[in-house]
Amino acid sequence: MEIIFYTLIFIIGILFGSFYTLAIYRIPKKQDITHTHSYCPKCQHKLGFWDLIPLFSYIFLGGKCRYCKEKIRPRYFIIELISGIFFLLIAYLWNFDLENLQVLKLIDFCFFILYFTFIVLMAGIDKESKIIDKKVTAYGIIISILYMIYLYIVDETNIYRYAMYLLVYIIILIIDNITLRKYAKDKYTNGIILTTIIMAIFSGELCTYMAITLVLLTFAICILCKKIYNKKNHILKENIGPKLPIGFMLAVADIIIFIYILLCNKFLI
Ligand SMILES: [Zn+2]
Repeated sequence: MEIIFYTLIFIIGILFGSFYTLAIYRIPKKQDITHTHSYCPKCQHKLGFWDLIPLFSYIFLGGKCRYCKEKIRPRYFIIELISGIFFLLIAYLWNFDLENLQVLKLIDFCFFILYFTFIVLMAGIDKESKIIDKKVTAYGIIISILYMIYLYIVDETNIYRYAMYLLVYIIILIIDNITLRKYAKDKYTNGIILTTIIMAIFSGELCTYMAITLVLLTFAICILCKKIYNKKNHILKENIGPKLPIGFMLAVADIIIFIYILLCNKFLI
């Protein structure tokens, strides 16, 4: 029975993964993500049922479009697989099983799916287009406010913390809408700050601090390597190089540390 349950969780995970790949491709292009039928980006051919089965279609089609034989980027396969594994891991680490399925655990799991959706879309779009998408951030803020309300109902001791989070949201949104609209174009930093607050609410402050530290360390190492490279090759002019997708890096660090903390809780304590 447990195997069927976990298989079902994995299938739900890869189905979500399939939606993520579509959303990451369409949101930056301002295309509809719910009504328009899936199509091949190269030949524009509408995809049939057998082309749309997560993981399996990619394997059976040999990573190519059935109609124009254009290579399908492995990103689709990887995101579906990671999302399936992630759903499975969370269900397992949270001791999720059918026999003693508690309502609160189920609600927690649903909220986590909503959070994972936010983190994957934010990271995917950042990696592809180097932007923190506003619609995705707005979605993240809405689900985190709902989550705060839920946590307050379950355990009201955290009210001051939530109030502080809300205040930071409001301040950043004001800066974003009034100041930046007038004077500056760099909204990336604001997007990153909002993202870290959403991360702290869902994956916890410890996990977020560790993720930020890890990203800063990676940054420092990258800059150091570049300096050494420039010195060795006698490049005097600082070449800025490609912009690093900080949102993507934060998301990867956050998810890895989150799973690591859950693993420690399950097996070490
Ligand atoms: Zn095609």
